[in-house]
This record gives sequence, C-alpha cells and structure tokens, in this order.
Amino acid sequence: MSPTAPAPTGAPTPARPGEPRLLVLKIGGSVLSDKQGTGQTDFDAIDAFAGQVADLVAGFPGRVVLVTGGGALCHPVGLRIKADRQDPYAAVALTEPAFTMRWAWTTRLRARGVRAVPLQVTSMFGEHPDGTPITETAVVRRLLAEGALPVLSSDCVVTAAGTLRILSSDHVPALLTAEEFGPVRIVALTDVPGILTRGPGSAVLRHLDPDDPTAAERLFWPTDAWDATGAMAGKVEALAEHARRGAECVITRGDRAAEDLRHLFAPIAEWPADTAYTLISRQWSP
Ligand code: ATP
Repeated sequence: MSPTAPAPTGAPTPARPGEPRLLVLKIGGSVLSDKQGTGQTDFDAIDAFAGQVADLVAGFPGRVVLVTGGGALCHPVGLRIKADRQDPYAAVALTEPAFTMRWAWTTRLRARGVRAVPLQVTSMFGEHPDGTPITETAVVRRLLAEGALPVLSSDCVVTAAGTLRILSSDHVPALLTAEEFGPVRIVALTDVPGILTRGPGSAVLRHLDPDDPTAAERLFWPTDAWDATGAMAGKVEALAEHARRGAECVITRGDRAAEDLRHLFAPIAEWPADTAYTLISRQWSP
C-alpha cells in the first residue's frame, strides 16, 4: 500500500502511540442477562449499554466493532448442541438466539442514530479443508469506512471437515486481528473487573502473558453446569490467542450506569486510576 493510500478500515491512524485504531468491544452475556437465576435477557441493560456504545461511535466513527455476548438466550442452546453427537450440523440452532441478541442491539443503536448492521459470522469465518482459517472481512471494512457499526455475536462456523461448530463470542474478534486493522484493542466487558486472584471480591491480576496463559489456570473457579463456553477460562484462552496475533486484550467490568466508555480509546496508562482490569498483551511495562 502506498504511504498516501487511506487506511483499509477507512479509519484515521491513531493520533498517539498506545491508542488503538480499531476497538472490538465485546459486551458479555453476564451483564446482559441473568444466566444463572431467572434465565432472562435484560433488554433494559442492552438499552443502557447501547447509549454508551452510541456515544463511543459518535466520538470514534468507523473505529468500533461490537460483539454481543449471547447470555441466557444462547448458553442453553449451546449446551444442547454440544450434547448432540449425531447431527454434525446441530450448531446451526445457534443462529436464532444469536440473531435475537444482535437485533436487540441493532434496534436500540439505530434508535440513537447509529448505523448499526448485524452480520452473521458464519458467512465470514471458518476453516479451509487443511485447517487454515477463512476470513472474509471486506464487508466489515466497507461498513467501517462509512462510519457504520458492525454488530457481531457468537455463531456457528464451518470446520475443516465441512461440518459446523460453535464459535463463542470471545473467539469472534479473531476475525479482526489481521495487521490491516491494527493496532487493535479488544475489550471484554463482563460482570467481574478482570481475572480475580483469590476468588470473588479479591485483587485483580493486572497482566497475563499471552504466551503463558496457563499461569492463570489455578485462579479460575469451577464453571457452572449451565455455562457452554467455559466462563473466565474460555475467555482467557480466546483472548490470549488474539493477543498472540498482536491484539491488545483487556478484561474489565461493564457498568450499565457508566457515564461513557471513551477512555477505551486512550493509551491504557491514561485510563482512570480506579478502573480495574486485566491486560493480556505482549506489550506491557509494569
Ligand atoms: P458470556 O460468555 O455469556 O458472554 P461473559 O463474557 O460476561 O459471558 P463469563 O463467560 O460468564 O462472562 O465469564 C465471567 C465469569 O467467570 C465470572 O462471572 C465468574 O463467575 C467466572 N470466573 C471464574 N474464575 C474467575 C476468576 N478467577 N476471576 C474472575 N471471574 C472468574
């Protein structure tokens, strides 16, 4: 690419070192639904977070991709898919609840003037017969160039064998780790402030080396039976993979009452001092 050619996402180059060009914001099912208790999706929470995302897109048009967690709608379907050993295409059942989530976001974001467009990851991501990844991101780039907001979620994807498997929402940012999008920051908002070191309420692990993610394994508590994606263990495994491809990954708490999310575009050293997080990145200075 010539030095004067526009950036592939249509997005401006970050103003300062330490700022991402693209922010992939994954909002976890834990803050959008009651997975453990009532099993209800909290559409008021989606509405509140949509306000924060709309503000972010207004400040950084063409530089945000939203990934919604599936929460209570998707986990039971995921468990049924995993239990079905007969049908190699059972994962197609995830399409409906995942789209319900994407549409819930899309309607609320559009009501706030955001050009939100739900996309099905099934059509953009998968595996060639030799196992190498298929990534078709032209549509994402085109939408970003127009200042629109791609809305992604977990989905079923085609495997090397030509069957279907689940791609969890924490794995979806893999679509966007190519160098052309970078620097990429992936922020996973969830119901905990990061990887907790000694159980609920304890201190947060500040940094995890993506080349040695097993160092965190002893910190995870057992995954509940209703969870289809391995809770924090599954998230860390996915984010470490993205970080090894060059993304800067952060786990932090999502607060529906937060005033704004604009700090997510600042160099991490400049984030508000009271923001707890776990950074999973090859770039880190204590
Ligand atoms: P979803 O996968 O549905 O989008 P999510 O991304 O919001 O949800 P989970 O996958 O449920 O989040 O992961 C967060 C959960 O991980 C926490 O609620 C907690 O119960 C669990 N967990 C296990 N071990 C730890 C740990 N060491 N620190 C923090 N949370 C942990």
